[in-house]
Amino acid sequence: MPTPTDPAEASGQAPAQTAASPQAGAAAETSSAQDTPVIAFHDVEKSFGPNTVLKDLNFSVQRGERVTLIGPSGSGKTTILRLVMTLEELTGGYIFIDGEPLTHEERDGRRVPVSKAAQRKLRTRIGMVFQQFNLFPNMTVVENIIEAPVHVLGMPKKEALTKAHDLLQQVGLGDKADAHPTSLSGGQQQRVAIARALAMDPEILLLDEVTSALDPEVVGEVLGILRRVAETTNVTMLIVTHEMQFARDVSHRVMMFDGGHVVESAPPEELFTAPKHERTQRFLSAVLGDH
Ligand code: ADP
Ligand code: MG
Repeated sequence: MPTPTDPAEASGQAPAQTAASPQAGAAAETSSAQDTPVIAFHDVEKSFGPNTVLKDLNFSVQRGERVTLIGPSGSGKTTILRLVMTLEELTGGYIFIDGEPLTHEERDGRRVPVSKAAQRKLRTRIGMVFQQFNLFPNMTVVENIIEAPVHVLGMPKKEALTKAHDLLQQVGLGDKADAHPTSLSGGQQQRVAIARALAMDPEILLLDEVTSALDPEVVGEVLGILRRVAETTNVTMLIVTHEMQFARDVSHRVMMFDGGHVVESAPPEELFTAPKHERTQRFLSAVLGDH
């Protein structure tokens, strides 16, 4: 069975412990628990009908790590995030969250789905913010934010409301609690969507081109909120963005992705200034406008 502790190929990280290690017992266990990735893709395959978008995809993200995925349009970046969010069905391989299988596991040599209950439980630890906000249009701002804490986590409504108002203050929308999403600007809707994701206290936050649908003048305030989340929490982030300065500032690692594969993966100061692969060089020079 593929174990979640050794999907090291793509991340370039050493496996936690080997069987030959002289260390045994408590020390080794502690080390291996710390090194279990929060997200691990193991030979992941995703097809839409005859169109195979991801194949043999391996990478992992460590606890508290912020990883940005870059790559050309149509290369499968959104699909990766949607798979983690269980919004798409995995067609092959395994995804592990904190070492636990998210959708399928191998049992007696066969690939079998995990229980819906197990999947739902893992899913509550993951939040996502979309390009198109995806707020519930028939609910007020505050109702959007308390929906999942109350109905998924079973949080008392009073507590959820207190938390929602606090989050709205943090995103600068303290006076919009009772507004409907349609009466808000794009930037305001996206700030509500960020507050809604944070209301679940996610361990993992997935951000899919969250500023791509916004007017240029409000991009900065939305990125500012996310920078603050990055600085003040330990939430693991998997980010897709075309905002290269933001990627540079908040990421621990940037993964260049093309044709369903990780082309290269390196800290931003390395990947942006000295990309190793010709594909990355070409992509960066196109998006950064170099000639
Ligand atoms: P990216 O986010 O990198 O632009 P996507 O993950 O959105 O790429 O898409 C990757 C590929 O998968 C594209 O070829 C796209 O057409 C295809 N695709 C994505 N979602 C679907 C879907 N629901 N049905 C069919 N094909 C899809
Ligand atoms: Mg996309």
